[in-house]
Order: sequence, then structure tokens, then C-alpha cells
Amino acid sequence: MSEKNVIKDLQKELFYSPKHASEIISEEEQKKADEFAEDYKYYMDHGKTERESVKYFIEKAKKNGYTEFDRNKNYVAGDKVYYNNRGKSVILCVFGTRPIADGVKISAAHLDSPRLDLKPNPLYEDAEMAYFKTHYYGGIKKYQWTAIPLSLHGVIIKADGETVEVCIGEDDNDPQFVITDLLPHLAADQMKRTMSEGISGESLNILIGSRPFAKNEGSEKVKLNIIKLLNEKYGITESDFLSAELEIVPAFKARDIGFDRSLIGAYGHDDKVCAYPAAEAIFAVENPSYTILTVLTDKEETGSDGNTGLNSSYLKYFISDLAKMGGEEPWRVLSASECLSADVNAAFDPIYADVSEPKNASYINKGVVITKYTGARGKGGTSDASAEFMGKIRRMLDKENVVWQIGELGKVDIGGGGTVAMYIANLDVDVIDLGVPVLSMHAPYEVISKLDLYMAFRAFKAFFEHE
Ligand code: MN
Ligand code: MN
Repeated sequence: MSEKNVIKDLQKELFYSPKHASEIISEEEQKKADEFAEDYKYYMDHGKTERESVKYFIEKAKKNGYTEFDRNKNYVAGDKVYYNNRGKSVILCVFGTRPIADGVKISAAHLDSPRLDLKPNPLYEDAEMAYFKTHYYGGIKKYQWTAIPLSLHGVIIKADGETVEVCIGEDDNDPQFVITDLLPHLAADQMKRTMSEGISGESLNILIGSRPFAKNEGSEKVKLNIIKLLNEKYGITESDFLSAELEIVPAFKARDIGFDRSLIGAYGHDDKVCAYPAAEAIFAVENPSYTILTVLTDKEETGSDGNTGLNSSYLKYFISDLAKMGGEEPWRVLSASECLSADVNAAFDPIYADVSEPKNASYINKGVVITKYTGARGKGGTSDASAEFMGKIRRMLDKENVVWQIGELGKVDIGGGGTVAMYIANLDVDVIDLGVPVLSMHAPYEVISKLDLYMAFRAFKAFFEHE
């Protein structure tokens, strides 16, 4: 053997160098990944908001033999239940053969994505055009939301208590909405502003109509025409907006990206690209040894506060109910539990390479990414997974041939971000972040790889099945 080969072999043995998933997995598995992606795209077009997603997953759970959780019932191994938290987050659970004192295994992802919420009193008219005023939700680059097709989703609770569900702009026959932008010819001043100041929060107003109610004199006739149409269709008056949750999201459909169809472009991969495989993984596991939970939560993008977010106690209460059924103290169950906090990470983008540190960035197609800690400025606001737990997860993924990589969110002190990991870790549960790398994260149209999506499914399934 030449000296060159000896060095090469030794490097292969001793160096850490993650590879493109297609170099590792079989052609058959690549095919499975492509098929998995087809169903994912269908979901992405039918679960754009947390409410629509919860409905989608509960319907699918019922088809898979899940029933609504009843805290007064006694469940046996193999039983499958779902817990619907106010229509905005959901826990899927399969009871295991082990005693509950051994702890539970949790995969937790979030269903909410950055978007524009309507203000409580949103409707107005200006220059004979009607608009909705919005307040953006989560971290967005505001300029990205102008001049793209938008749809309206959500619920209105009418004065008499009746609930009206709204979804306009997704069906091919539906009208859509838009935020107008300034033409370049007149934008000299706007273009001089910084990107964060180019479009202000108060100018994110949605164009919703332009035809007046009647020919005769009078003000606000376009607005009147709009509310009259809404009254005819939904039976609402203007004050009903006060008790509504209406969300403006991009009207794009999920599509393959690239000549090789290796990628998927869609709105809301963060974090539905983890929620979907986490749900599919629990649906795919029959008779687990540990009791297993997939938690699909809300409000992550605004910091996890609120009773449908993971900084509230709903997960703790659910596990407490399980503990009581098994005659165990809740904290003993929590302390013995393990969790994959399933969230996306920023994929290395060669066009913006300077924000990433290449040895610790995650890459498209190199498999599911483990993020040991998130946070910012000296690991502030994070849960840093222990070496022991990281070691355990690593052994499990390697044993099950799941392609994975390590990733940190950007260079030190460049920025940072958080996930739900710390809220679960604060319950004394062992937690690590694991998810899918995303390009253009938080943009109206984000990009992921089909192979990474499938590896996430394989990782959650392995976690649920592993001893
Ligand atoms: Mn996320
Ligand atoms: Mn996010």
C-alpha cells in the first residue's frame, strides 16, 4: 500500500466528515424518501396554520385507531390516544408495555409559522380601496411579504357564540390577497433605507377590494361593500373581527424544486417539516416498549408563551395524568423521560457563507441535524444537551443507519435562536434538538431536501422503538 493510501485510510478512520445522504443510503431507500415527500407536500397544502394542522393530524390519528384522551379511563399497552389542546396543539400518545415509572419518550415539534395576523379591528378604506391592517407574528423580513399572493385562514367567533371557519385563497377558484409595493421608478428614497426599514410594520396592509357598494354619494362605500359581502357569506358584522383569529399566509403551494426534484419549496417548513415526520413516526410504531408521545405545539415563533405553547403546563399535566393512572408521582415520570426537540436548523447557504462557521454548520442533504445547544451570546437562553444524552442519541442513530450531522445556528455572536427544548428540559427531562436543515428559513417560501425529511422520520421512529 502506498503512503498516500495509508494516510487516506487513516483519515477516513479518524476524521469526522459527514457525507451526502445519497452516498450512504440505498437506492430503494431514496425511492421511499421520494414517496414520503409526496404525502408531505399534500399535508403542507392542507395544514398551513396550527389550527388546520391540528385538524389534519387528529383526523389521521383517528384513522390510525387513536381515540380522544379520557383522564378517567385506564389504558393498557398498545392503546392510542390524542389530546386536543384548544384546537391549536395536540399530543399523540401510544401506551407502552413498560411501567410508566420508566419515563416516556417525547418528540416535540411546532405547528405555527411566521405570518401576518389581522389586527382586532382590521378593516378600513383609503382612496376607494379596502384593506386589512395586520400585526406580524414571529420573525419575518417584512419586505419579503409584499407583492406575493396571500391567503386568509382562521376562525371568527360571532356575537352569538357561533364559530365561523375561514379559508380563502387556497382553492384555484378562490380570490387571493396582496400587499402592494412601490414601483422602482418612484422608490429612490425607499431603496436608500435599510432592508429592515424599507417596509414598516404598519404598512403591511392587505388589499382586499376596490368596488363601492352603490353609485350614490357617501363615504367608505368600498368598505361597506366588503363587509356586506362578508355578512352575506359568513353572517358577520365588523365587530365580530374583535373575537377572531385570522392569519394571512402565503398562497403558494408546496412544489418540487430543481431539475432533479431533490428539494421541496413551501411555506412553513419551519416547523412542519419536523411535525409531519414526528407524527408519521408515532403512527408507524405499534406496541412500543416505552410510552411514546408526539407533541405538536403552538406559539414557538413568539417564544412559546400562552396556554397552547410549551412554556405552559399542558404537557406536564398530560404526563401527570399518565403518571396517576400508573400509580406513580408525576415528577418521577418526568425525570426518567427523554425528548427529541424537533425543530429546523439553518442550512449552510454558499451565497451567504459568511454567517456560518463551516465546520459546525448543517448542510442540505447530509441528513437530520442534531443541535446540541441553541441560544445566543454565550449560549444564553438555551438547553445544552449533556454529552451523555448526545452519546446515547448518536449510538441509536448509527445503529439504525439514520444519516445525521451536527449543526450550530450561525457563527458565534452573529445572531442566534431558540426552540422548545429548554421548556421541556426545565421539567427535568433529557432533551436534544434534532430536525431538518432549511434554506431561506422564515421566508414566505422555504426550501428543504427530501432525503433530510425522510431521515427525520427514520430518526423519530428509531427513537420511539429504541430500548
Ligand atoms: Mn422552529
Ligand atoms: Mn422559526
